[in-house]
Amino acid sequence: MGYKPAMEIDLQHKPASQLSARHTLLGKDRLQMTASLREFGLAEKPAKMRSNQIFRWLYHQGINDFSLMTNLAKDLRNDLAEYFDLSRPEIIEKLVSTDGTRKYLIRFAPGVEAESVFIPGVGRSGALCVSSQVGCTLNCTFCHTGSQALVRNLTAAEIVGQVLLARDDLDEWPTPSAGRRITNIVFMGMGEPLLNLPNVLTAIDILSDNEGISISRRRITVSTSGIVPQMAPLGDQGKTMLAISLHAVTDALRNELVPINRRYPIAELLQACRQYPGASNARRITFEYVMLKGINDSDAEAKELVRLLAGIPAKINLIPFNPWPGSPYECSSWQRIEAFAEIVNKAGYSSPVRTPRGRDIFAACGQLKSESVKKRASERLREQQQLNP
Ligand code: SAH
Ligand code: SF4
Repeated sequence: MGYKPAMEIDLQHKPASQLSARHTLLGKDRLQMTASLREFGLAEKPAKMRSNQIFRWLYHQGINDFSLMTNLAKDLRNDLAEYFDLSRPEIIEKLVSTDGTRKYLIRFAPGVEAESVFIPGVGRSGALCVSSQVGCTLNCTFCHTGSQALVRNLTAAEIVGQVLLARDDLDEWPTPSAGRRITNIVFMGMGEPLLNLPNVLTAIDILSDNEGISISRRRITVSTSGIVPQMAPLGDQGKTMLAISLHAVTDALRNELVPINRRYPIAELLQACRQYPGASNARRITFEYVMLKGINDSDAEAKELVRLLAGIPAKINLIPFNPWPGSPYECSSWQRIEAFAEIVNKAGYSSPVRTPRGRDIFAACGQLKSESVKKRASERLREQQQLNP
């Protein structure tokens, strides 16, 4: 199909030079991308067709350069390149663990940095653990990210950007139909995904689209500390797997470990799990339980955990506590973890103990923290102006 400006471009189309900043197309689902192409000046039908083509280039081929999009006419490519920015965030540090885990420190903007972690699994499967916020507001006492104030929510483009960068690094373009290295996505990096739900949902739509990165919603898990009112919307719209960071079986202890429990206590949280759209025996909810020596790891607590989860299609994931500098807890002994797991297993739950991955590069659960600090808007603006005078 050739590029026919007379048909495709509306008369109101503004030349890119009249616009102050270039728009991005990354992080837009198909509908949003079509709307952006309409704003750029394409008429309705061509905008829809071009958006399908560009979506495939961006997310199936992994291309971020209009000049390589060979099914668009040259003039159109040039105009699009002037108007839209397709640049990815930047990996500023990459660490590879002895166990193959890769940790990426990513800069999204000056002073806005977060981490994502690739965890190779058995065979050629693997999970990419992505961040949804820089920092976190929730201050769980065992979590390193929780000791960093919230800097800001990540945009959908920045969440999807983490997957694009990991795919670049693992040389995984175009999207392979078989033998992939990134087979699963887990929202278990920095931040609380349900406090950034609109952006997380858009990112999930893009990541799961069959014409692009094509990771099915059943292979995407969103982990939450228990933001109860956002759980049903996640299930209805995101249709992903759910993981709950439970970590305690009494409100008294959970109030301390996961302070958001004061707002949404255990009974309410479990009720929301019972009602989670799409949960079934085939699609179980994962309950994460961090093993803290002498705090939450007794036999009595294992039995209470089993009792609490009765009637919920559940898996239990015991996570050995990963220490960080100055952390106020210790990890339970292996003997204790095994005894705890045995009680849970006997009750019929599969309860794999999650082997800590990438501890040597501080990439394990709860060890992520960036140097980013919350800055005043004026400070950030000044920095940005210095970079882009
Ligand atoms: N905010 C979300 C997702 C990010 S945390 C949530 O809390 O669920 C991802 C998982 O790592 C959570 O289960 C969290 O409780 C766990 N975690 C946090 N700090 C940890 C640590 N130091 N050791 C082991 N697991 C930790
Ligand atoms: Fe935030 Fe999750 Fe860490 Fe709690 S465990 S502070 S919710 S990132």
